[in-house]
Amino acid sequence: MPKNKYAFFRGEIRPIEEAKVSVMTSAFNYGTGVFEGIRAFWNEEEKELFVFRMPEHYARFLRSCKILLLDLPYSVEDLCQITLELLRREGFQEDVYIRPLAYKASEEIGVRLHNLESDLAIFALPFEAYLPPGGIRAMVSSWRRIEDNAIPARAKITGAYVNSALAKTEAYLAGFDEAIVLNEDGQVAEGSAENLFLVRDGVLITPPITANILEGITRDTVMTLARDLGLPVVERPVDRTELYLAEEVFLTGTAAGLAPVVEIDHRKIGTGKPGPIFNSLRDLYERVVRGKEKKYRSWCTPVYSRPAA
Ligand code: PMP
Repeated sequence: MPKNKYAFFRGEIRPIEEAKVSVMTSAFNYGTGVFEGIRAFWNEEEKELFVFRMPEHYARFLRSCKILLLDLPYSVEDLCQITLELLRREGFQEDVYIRPLAYKASEEIGVRLHNLESDLAIFALPFEAYLPPGGIRAMVSSWRRIEDNAIPARAKITGAYVNSALAKTEAYLAGFDEAIVLNEDGQVAEGSAENLFLVRDGVLITPPITANILEGITRDTVMTLARDLGLPVVERPVDRTELYLAEEVFLTGTAAGLAPVVEIDHRKIGTGKPGPIFNSLRDLYERVVRGKEKKYRSWCTPVYSRPAA
């Protein structure tokens, strides 16, 4: 039994049982869809659900659509309104994961992007923890990150997630929690579904957006919070062995939140425990996403009560 009752599908909010596609759907055959992962966080004191950085997620969604020539008749504001309406209908009073999906909906054989119908689906589920709490044991994957000139990693393309799935399952079957994926240049790209940060000599470092990574929203959030805390932040290419020597390594993502990596390829990272920079950023992040930090409150859209104009 699904834990959600509704989906936005074919232009309206319907019972989830009605949100079904045919086996002939183009995107099902060829992976020609794009998606988002958005979270909403329950604030118990205010009895309010806050969607985190929703316009930024939908702006990235429309950028992904542009790359795949997916034409949706919706603006960022329209997509936000549909999402808020869906969440109100569900009535969630807990943390939520929201999954928008745009896809080539024509029921036709023929691999292409042109002359096909596009459609939009959105559903939302209660959130379940994505990575184990505590510390993550990771391995550098034998799989390489997809290239911008093959399948652009900056778009969240459904078919491209075969690359993430290969890396994630290789790591899981080898007894690790997560994979760290190098790009074709042999430098660090990201986790299977998270961006990566490391700390060297007190400087927070993350690979640049030209390293075949997803331009992560949590990545941007962490860089903003770090700079506001007065920490130096640098975007630059990262070598594999820098991971082994870092004082701290952590992963960031909508589903993962901020997750400390305590071991990589059987080398202990730093002290083998979550480090002080990670701890301070994670504590702040956890407050920010629930609307508990006034300074960042504009990142949080309340679901049940609109802010006073
Ligand atoms: N990289 C990949 C490949 C991802 O799938 C995700 C999850 N969306 C991320 C990074 C993290 O991005 P965000 O912080 O926007 O969720």
